[in-house]
Formats: sequence, C-alpha cells, structure tokens
Amino acid sequence: MPIGSDPVTRLKGVGPKKAEQLANLNIQTIEDLLFHYPRGYEDRTQMKTISQLQVDEPACFRATVCSTPRTAHIRKGLDITKVAVADHTAKLNLTFFNQKFTAERLQYGQEYYFYGAVSGDFIGYNMASPAVEDVDAPGVLTRRILPLYPLTAGLSNGVLTKTIAQALEVCGAPKEILPREVLEAYHILPAQQAYRAIHDPKTMEEAAQAKRRLVFEEFFIFSAGLALMRAKRAFQRTEPYRDLNLEPFLDVLPFSPTGAQRRTMEEVARDLSRGHAMNRLVQGDVGSGKTIIAAAAAFLAARNSRQAAFMVPTEILAEQHLVSLHKLLSPLGIRVGLLTGGQSVKIKRETRQALAEGQIDLIIGTHALLSEATEFARLGLVITDEQHRFGVQQRAKLSEKGQNPHILVMSATPIPRTLALLMYGDLDVSVIDELPPGREPIDTFLISESIRGRANGFIRKEVEAGHQCYIVCPAVEESETLSIKSAETWADTLRQTIFPDLRVALLHGQMKSQEKEAVMDAFCQHQYDILVATTVIEVGVDVPNATLMVIEDADRFGLSQLHQLRGRVGRGKAKSYCILFSSNQNTETRQRLKAFCKTNDGFKIAQEDLKLRGPGDFFGTRQHGLPTFRMANLAEDMTTLRQAQAAAARWIEDHGSEDGPQAQALRDRIAKLFSQSEGAMN
Ligand code: ADP
Ligand code: MG
Repeated sequence: MPIGSDPVTRLKGVGPKKAEQLANLNIQTIEDLLFHYPRGYEDRTQMKTISQLQVDEPACFRATVCSTPRTAHIRKGLDITKVAVADHTAKLNLTFFNQKFTAERLQYGQEYYFYGAVSGDFIGYNMASPAVEDVDAPGVLTRRILPLYPLTAGLSNGVLTKTIAQALEVCGAPKEILPREVLEAYHILPAQQAYRAIHDPKTMEEAAQAKRRLVFEEFFIFSAGLALMRAKRAFQRTEPYRDLNLEPFLDVLPFSPTGAQRRTMEEVARDLSRGHAMNRLVQGDVGSGKTIIAAAAAFLAARNSRQAAFMVPTEILAEQHLVSLHKLLSPLGIRVGLLTGGQSVKIKRETRQALAEGQIDLIIGTHALLSEATEFARLGLVITDEQHRFGVQQRAKLSEKGQNPHILVMSATPIPRTLALLMYGDLDVSVIDELPPGREPIDTFLISESIRGRANGFIRKEVEAGHQCYIVCPAVEESETLSIKSAETWADTLRQTIFPDLRVALLHGQMKSQEKEAVMDAFCQHQYDILVATTVIEVGVDVPNATLMVIEDADRFGLSQLHQLRGRVGRGKAKSYCILFSSNQNTETRQRLKAFCKTNDGFKIAQEDLKLRGPGDFFGTRQHGLPTFRMANLAEDMTTLRQAQAAAARWIEDHGSEDGPQAQALRDRIAKLFSQSEGAMN
C-alpha cells in the first residue's frame, strides 16, 4: 500500500508524463495531491427534466436513448456523433464532437445520467458533448458537487479529480494535527472529514465547513511555528541593560516627544532591561516620528557599552539618518558611522575596521551591513527601518553578527492588522498612533492634463511662499512603449520652458551615490525649489519645508506607495498638498484614486490596497518572508486567524515540548509551510 509521502507514480494510472504535469502544479507526493485544494465548485446536484432545461444553463438530467448513435466523418480530425434522448417530458438531440468512443457506447433503450447545457436556434434545441454516466455507476461527473482545480497544460479537471479521489482512497487524509480540544472548542471538522469534504463535498455547506477547517489549520501551523520560535528565543539569555536613564537623551531632543513616542520609548527601555532579547515592532503612520525611537534605543545601547546597527532600504535614507542622528547623538558622546554599498572601497574598509574595533557606537547603513566583511566588536541592538522592505532572513542575518542582540523593527507602511500579525506574530508591537502637534491633514487632488496650467501656477505659488515641492515620475528615462512621464525628460522640460526661473533638481536611483547625496543635501538646505524624482524618495525622506507633492501618472502606483509618497510632505507646521495627475479613464482606477484623495488614514488605505492586490503585490515583488497560504485569504480570514493564533499559543505552551506522533506531524507541517518562505525559521 502506498503512503502519503510516496511519489505520485505509486498511484494507478500515474506514469512519468502525468507525474511531470503534476510537478508543474508543485505536486510530488501523494499527500501533495490532497493539499491541492479546489479553487471553486460546480454544483451538479440539481436534477432537471428535459423540458426544464434552460438555454446555456448546464444541468443534470436522466434520459433514455431513443435512437442509435450515428457518427459522420466530416473531415480529417472531425467526427460528429448524433444521438437522440428523451424523458417523459421531451426529446433532445445530443451532438458529440470527436467523442465517437463515448457516444457509440450509448445503447438504444437504456437510461443514463447526463450533464450539459442546451443551446437553441431556429431549428430546435440541441446539446453539445454532455458528460455521460451509467445510472448504476457512482456519480463522478454528474449528480455531485464537482471540484474545480487549478490546472496545468495537458491535465484536465476530470483526470485530476479522479487522481485526487484515488489518493484520498488509498492514503486517507493527512494526519490530524489539531488537538481534539481545539476541534471541539471551535467547532471544527476533523481532518478525515475535512479533506474528504474539500475534494468531494456532499453540500456546499459542507464545502464551506471544510474550507474553514483548512484555513484554521494553515493559520494554526503558522502560528505554532511562530510560537515555537518565540519560546526558543525566551531561552536565549541576554545580559540585561543596567543604565536605562533616558533623561540626557530627552534633554537634547529639539522637541518634546508625543505621548505615543514616550510610551514606546518606555516599552523599549523595559525590554532592554529584561534578561532576554527584545523583539519589538514599532508601527506608526508616515511622519509619526519613529526615528527618535531608534535614536533612543541606540542611545541606551551605547550607554550600556553595546553597538547598534540601523539598517535602512535606501542610501538616501541612510544618509539622511546619518545627518540627523549625528546631530542629535554626538553631543551625548555617541559615535555615529555610515556604511553603504555606494561608498568607496577605502571608506568602507576604514568604517568596517572601526566597527570591528568598537570605535563606532551606532552604524547606519544599507544592505552593505549584511556583508560577510562587516564585523562588530559587541553588537547589542539591531534596528531595521521600513521593515517591510526586508525579508525576515535579512533581519536574522544582521542579528547573527552579535550574540543574541535586541531587535527593533520599524514600519512606516501601515501594514494591515492581519498581515502585521502574520509577519510580526513573533514580535511585540508598539503603535505610534499620534502625530506630532500642529500637523494638518494633507489636501489631495486628482486632476487631469486639462488643468495642468493651473497646477503649475499652484507650484509656483508654493515656491514663492518659501516652500519646496516634489514632483514624482514613474520612470527614469523616456520609454518608447509607454506614455509615462520620465523623470529626466520632465525635469528638462520644467527647467527649460515651465519654470526657467526656479531651481529644479533631479534625483533617481540610477545616479551615483555621491550625486544622489549631493542633490538630496542641497534640497534639504533649500538650494532647490523643486525636486523631480522617481520613487527613490518613497521611504523615509524628511524635509519639513516641502509642502507640495505632485505625482505624475498616479494610476501607476499602488495606494500604499502613494500614501508613502504623500507622507513626504506635511512634516512641518505649514499646510501641505498633494496633486495626483492621471489621465487613466478606467472607472475602477479613478474610484481608487478618488478614495485616496478623501483619506489620510494609512491603515484604511493599506487595508484597501490589500483587498485590491493581495498580499503578494502589496509588498511589490520584494520578498517579505511570508509563507504562501493555499486556502487562507489574508484580507478576509481575520477572525479565524485570531482563533488559530490563540489556540496555537495555548497548545505550544501546554504541549510544545511533547514528542508524540501528533506533535511530530505538526512539526513536519510547520517545516513544510516555512520552507516556502526560505529562511523564515531562523
Ligand atoms: P517617520 O519615520 O515616522 O515617518 P520621522 O521620524 O521622520 O517620521 O519624523 C517626521 C518629522 O517629525 C521629523 O522632521 C521629526 O523631526 C519630526 N518630529 C518627530 N517627533 C516630533 C515631535 N514629538 N514633535 C515635533 N516634531 C517631531
Ligand atoms: Mg522614517
């Protein structure tokens, strides 16, 4: 008898060719077949009489063959078989194309079940190639709810249905991994029933229940995995920080922190005083002031003779943090350094040496920090800014450079609650839900080309009032295929014809680090009025004097991205604005952009974005350390996630160290789920 972990070729009728097709669907073992869930169902349980059949509405009916099937060979590759059937209500002509074998099996005077749709024309009603089954055979294609599977070339739904049914029959469902008390508490179908029902439901209600069970199962596995990681970490001791006095730091801050910032700093300080490593996410909308939390943590690390590493996704952001944190922290005796890929080899080497010798207390940098060559004397704190831009494994890689260092991750992209729970389920969370005082909401307008003149007038007005303006374009260079504005050409046009008297700068990711740095510096110091840029300025850039964000071809950006871009203004006391240009007339697109104009609430926007694009696209193509869920929908299955999380946490606490077959099966499934998001278990 084959078992679940055997290759699919152990099943009857599965040879190398079919195995290859199944491999395209990521199915290698018999058990994988059971995990290949239907994407939907076709309800074929309703029986009709022939007279009840409606044109173009497929249905099941039972009828007697009342003519001998006749096949006509029309031309090469086309055989047509015709046969008439009838029940007590009416007669119907059936036509089969190239199905001579099936059709000629039909016996005059015999009854069969059929499933198909009639089509009607002036000659009369007809049905093309219905599914046929003997009345005494079990219903596979008729009289049942038919699962509809994700398919691949060469593999039909019928064949896949039969193969999966066979797998279920010879191996049964995968081992039950949910504890009995959980099944009872949440009224969840046991594995046996659920796996049968998902592939062969008797009713749609049963299919829904099976689906709920499998969503729960997925979340349970995932949450149990995170809970295990957390438990493991709690064992790893860290020397507690003794000096937790933030007063000197607060004294040099140029403003007084908001209540939310104060609370978060206290939470961080408390974490650092404990005997195990901090793992905290600081979540706050753009402009809520997350940077000083990082600064406070780095200050405490330095006070306790530890080094801190602050990793950010772009060089521009690294540079900017260097300037502001150096200004803030160096009066406190903290030595701040910078390490980015764009620096010269010599500078990088010198910086790395200083780090390894412990002469730098806080190093700010990009991915360059992750390189083998970067070593620390006593790394005690790892901070990542804009965490969603990094994979879980990158955070882990940086941590490995110290001995179980504290971890602080910051995210300005307001990740929807569901995703936050998933991505950061192993973290404690601080939310900065308060903006610094005096911030006014940003007014946002969606306009089209026809009033560009007025928009230009508005830009000029803002500049004349002493403010600065960003203009963001989707591409760097002119593209021949798309009519999107390129930053380069548009900057030229602005300089030459529209604003020849204003100071216009250009910034994009393909420029050399030093050029980028110089342009950004000059813009910060108000040596430019207008900065034409690509999305390199998307995250973190902070120039409080900028009050206007113009986004060209706004329809080409995701909502969260637009929100990030808009967050570059409204960072000072002056009223700020955002103008979206779009000539896209698609109704949905316009609705999306209009909704964006109406709210400044990053969480709402993110939730909307997640619904529209799904979690994969939500983060762009960048990896985000999330496993692929087969059944669960991250935008919708929030309640189930909560339940599964609670159940998993309790279970791990009570039974986490057990070694029984159920615990082992759960561990296997955890490993399987996480292996898809490589490295996430580190
Ligand atoms: P985030 O990283 O959350 O988007 P930043 O840390 O860059 O936000 O802060 C945005 C701006 O607000 C910065 O110019 C910062 O100096 C300023 N800021 C932060 N906290 C306060 C505060 N409590 N009062 C006044 N200004 C603040
Ligand atoms: Mg920031």
